[in-house]
Amino acid sequence: MTADRKLLEARVLAGHGRRFVVETGDGMRLTCLTAARSLQPVCGDRLRVDPGAALIRALLPRRSLFSKADARGKARPIAANLDLVLVTVAVEPEAQLFLLDKYLASIAGMGIEAGIVYNKTDLLAGAATPLQRQLAYYRGIGYSVFDVSSRSGAGLDALKAALAGRMSLLVGQSGVGKSSLLNALVPDARRRIDELSAISGEGKHTTTVTTLHALPGGGELLDSPGVRDLALTAVAPRDVARLFIEFPRHASDCRFPDCVHAQEPGCAVQAAAARGEIPASRYANYLKLLGAMKKAEKQKYD
Ligand code: GDP
Ligand code: ZN
Repeated sequence: MTADRKLLEARVLAGHGRRFVVETGDGMRLTCLTAARSLQPVCGDRLRVDPGAALIRALLPRRSLFSKADARGKARPIAANLDLVLVTVAVEPEAQLFLLDKYLASIAGMGIEAGIVYNKTDLLAGAATPLQRQLAYYRGIGYSVFDVSSRSGAGLDALKAALAGRMSLLVGQSGVGKSSLLNALVPDARRRIDELSAISGEGKHTTTVTTLHALPGGGELLDSPGVRDLALTAVAPRDVARLFIEFPRHASDCRFPDCVHAQEPGCAVQAAAARGEIPASRYANYLKLLGAMKKAEKQKYD
């Protein structure tokens, strides 16, 4: 069809409402509106645009979809095609391990690889902190943990190497240094946010626009200032256990094949937690998240 011939493939760099800043394969930037209400692109989406009409005509299939919970706890998609989400913790403020475990499980539930960034290591002095000992456990079960300081630059080369060639996002509690890390990794981040906010009609110095930044070493870092809570949705309570990535290893020894590792007799996960092989805090966080998922499922039918 002739109408299709002038469509170009593009990617969403930033968006607000129905207006999106997209970039075509050859680097041309356009501001486009969606052609239909049913089209709901998010940052990172690949799509077909009609450059003449400045319209988004179609979304291409997504490799992954990253959502956060809105104020009512409903999942709101904010980025497509992410390869890696890094949960950021820091020497201070004190890390909330429940949030760490919840984030790691949520990211696994979205089918995206998760890793951990431990920032502000310039503040460390001498003996290992409790958090450092806890992070050693996460390293041991297979997560990449990057010890960095956005201030001194320590560890940033290893982090850059992990980000190269992939689309990544930093999440974590306020104050851990996500903006500082973005600025250390993407030298012109602030200017770009202002630029994209201006073209997408959000105005300057906005704090809500989700933006995709090219990294000097290849790959991209997504900036989403609004990510506060990650949605753990579409997970049946019995599936929460597989999102705690080391649990399946233990669970093969549970007496009951449908064990959810809560109160069942002969549960190998409970036994591993009792022996300290799984940290008590992580097992407690699992039970807390399982309880929340059971409650959410019950509310669906009430
Ligand atoms: P965000 O809320 O996660 O985006 O955190 P910010 O990037 O705004 O940083 C919060 C505070 O931590 C600021 O006062 C930063 O200057 C400070 N900060 C960030 N990174 C580091 C670091 O590597 N070392 C130290 N000592 N402070 C840092
Ligand atoms: Zn069990």
